Amino acid sequence: MHAAGDVRVEEREDPKIIEPTDAIIRVTASCICGSDLWPYRGLEPVKDQVMGHEYVGVVEEIGPEVKNVKVGDFVVGSFVISDNTCEICRSGYQSRCVHGEFVAATVGTQSDKARIPLADGTLVATPGQPDPGLIPSLLAASDVLGTGWFAAVAADAGPGKTVAVVGDGAVGLMGVLAAKQLGAGRIIAMSRNPQRQELARFYGATDIVQERGDEGVAKIKELTNGLGAHSVIEAVGTQESMMQAIRSTRPGGHVGFVGVAHDVELPGLELFFADIHLHGGPAPVRRFLPDLIQLIWDRKIDPGKVFDLTLPLEEAAEGYKAMDERRAIKVLLTA
Ligand SMILES: [Zn+2]
Repeated sequence: MHAAGDVRVEEREDPKIIEPTDAIIRVTASCICGSDLWPYRGLEPVKDQVMGHEYVGVVEEIGPEVKNVKVGDFVVGSFVISDNTCEICRSGYQSRCVHGEFVAATVGTQSDKARIPLADGTLVATPGQPDPGLIPSLLAASDVLGTGWFAAVAADAGPGKTVAVVGDGAVGLMGVLAAKQLGAGRIIAMSRNPQRQELARFYGATDIVQERGDEGVAKIKELTNGLGAHSVIEAVGTQESMMQAIRSTRPGGHVGFVGVAHDVELPGLELFFADIHLHGGPAPVRRFLPDLIQLIWDRKIDPGKVFDLTLPLEEAAEGYKAMDERRAIKVLLTA
């Protein structure tokens, strides 16, 4: 991305092993993230930036210290590089690894090949070579599924809980899927888009709320005996969506927030009297990857359905346009 709105596919030098803990992968599929739209829309600074942080592929080369993946393995990686051995990683927060770095900032996986640092701690090999039909779902595990899953866990979704989901993008939809898998009985998706409402229902939403902001909050209260939801997933990152999430949560309830916050300011006094748990941030996808890969492998979940447009990598610019104009929920790029 040379500047806001200016995406071009260009030749770069092939990546090489630099550190003994690196792996080089041939990217089978990557995709465009909702968070890539922030710089695209000029809401985050961008200049000549490599793009892409979601990826699946085949290991082509490994450094001498890599032990957990081998050449030929099909791998799924997290959008944050992690060693998976430091104290923070071992506590389940690999997205804040003391040796962590964001794939988006340095690697850029909207490409044919990528150098993945700390391969042992970042990549997870699938049980075998996947059926092509599984590739979109495995790719979803790299970010949107893992992020939606983390949001649902952070929101304490589970049996007996009513879960409300703010945001009908790919992460919000994956939050619905995760809440369902975690056993939530009632799942309220907040969406005004008929196609996304349908997908939300496919993934397990039991109710749809079309209203936004305080009207949306009133609707959630109406559906929950005036109390609010036990668990609320926030998957947008704006002031309005964050307040909608906080105000939709009952006292003692949990908000799992994973929308990258932009100009969000929380009113302290309202927060004080809300009596709720707030937990969020960049999702530690690596924590969930082994389980998510297995669920996909066993065809128990079908997260790949969030991709509603597939383009060859060369047409990445059109993919950004389609997502920016909300013509596509999520764009898969094939190598
Ligand atoms: Zn670590």
